[in-house]
Amino acid sequence: FFPLQALGDKNREPGRLYDLEYESDDEAEEEKVVQNPSKPSVKKGGLGGMFGMLKGLVGSKSLTRDDMDPVLEKMKDHLIAKNVAAEIAVQLCESVAKKLEGKVMGTFTTVTSTVKQALQEALVQILQPQRRVDVLRDVMDAQRHRRPYVVTFCGVNGVGKSTNLAKISFWLIENGFSVLIAACDTFRAGAVEQLRTHTRRLNALHPPESHGGRTMVQLYEKGYGKDAAGIAMEAISYARNQGFDVVLVDTAGRMQDNAPLMTALAKLIAVNAPDLVLFVGEALVGNEAVDQLVKFNKALADHSMAQTPRLIDGIVLTKFDTIDDKVGAAISMTYITSKPIVFVGTGQTYCDLRSLNAKAVVAALMKA
Ligand code: GDP
Repeated sequence: FFPLQALGDKNREPGRLYDLEYESDDEAEEEKVVQNPSKPSVKKGGLGGMFGMLKGLVGSKSLTRDDMDPVLEKMKDHLIAKNVAAEIAVQLCESVAKKLEGKVMGTFTTVTSTVKQALQEALVQILQPQRRVDVLRDVMDAQRHRRPYVVTFCGVNGVGKSTNLAKISFWLIENGFSVLIAACDTFRAGAVEQLRTHTRRLNALHPPESHGGRTMVQLYEKGYGKDAAGIAMEAISYARNQGFDVVLVDTAGRMQDNAPLMTALAKLIAVNAPDLVLFVGEALVGNEAVDQLVKFNKALADHSMAQTPRLIDGIVLTKFDTIDDKVGAAISMTYITSKPIVFVGTGQTYCDLRSLNAKAVVAALMKA
């Protein structure tokens, strides 16, 4: 925790998290084209090389699939190198090809900007799904109805569920909301103690004395081996009675192929009907991201007791600080679920939480 580093971007919108930082080499690339119009970009392997190849396609005839195929192949490899899941890279290239097919290209610059724009538009569109999740607004709405706002965290082991749950607690407390953490990972040794340590630290940062005697964060736990759905239910009812604003439910990490554990998770969600189901996934995953998300959603659908099955509502993308510009997991995860990335974890302190900046991710993805 770095006390000098304020968590929310309070100048912009109260409580809103800082966006991911954004660094683009777009301008530099454009300049290169203008200064040296007769020469295609000399970069090899990246998008520079790919755009260079398009020069051969310039002419009065319209673009055909045959013209584009070698370029699309490079584009696909570039996306895969950035950690986009292979099958999604293929689908993305297909959509760009459809958009460009039949277009008449005038000059090299136009080809460059057209291809780049088509790809950029597709990527931004993926990263900005229709429904935006506004947690603070929804917590306030629940407050008005005198009930706690409930968030369930799920995902495989070790992706950073507990750590990011603690960061989100910190952010909520900074915004004046009290949090009850429900320790529903009754499976992994040490899971409860880990949350207890976070609770103690968070309470030290926000002691009741600073909040008019109100305890801002508390742990609800019943040890190990018990039914997680039952503990979550007790915790929600405790939070309602004690006037907590938010319940954050930690669940056991599970592999997407483990049927009994997936059924237990689906039951926890079906029984407790949380306001928000967050899938926690690390930015390090490549092709595996697709398998995890497809199977988590399928398990929730298969075991849902509701008519319209309850699926994942949003994503917490963790360990974003460890991937440099290999940001492809962000694309894979939103593409598969059509759900927003609600939080991005960017490190191991409570301040390392950001909101997604689609432009920043796309810029990193396009970078050669
Ligand atoms: P869980 O098993 O999913 O609950 O995972 P944990 O919360 O125990 O985290 C596993 C490891 O990942 C711990 O060492 C965390 O400190 C680390 N971790 C979690 N989130 C981040 C993040 O955003 N960035 C980095 N660098 N490490 C993280």
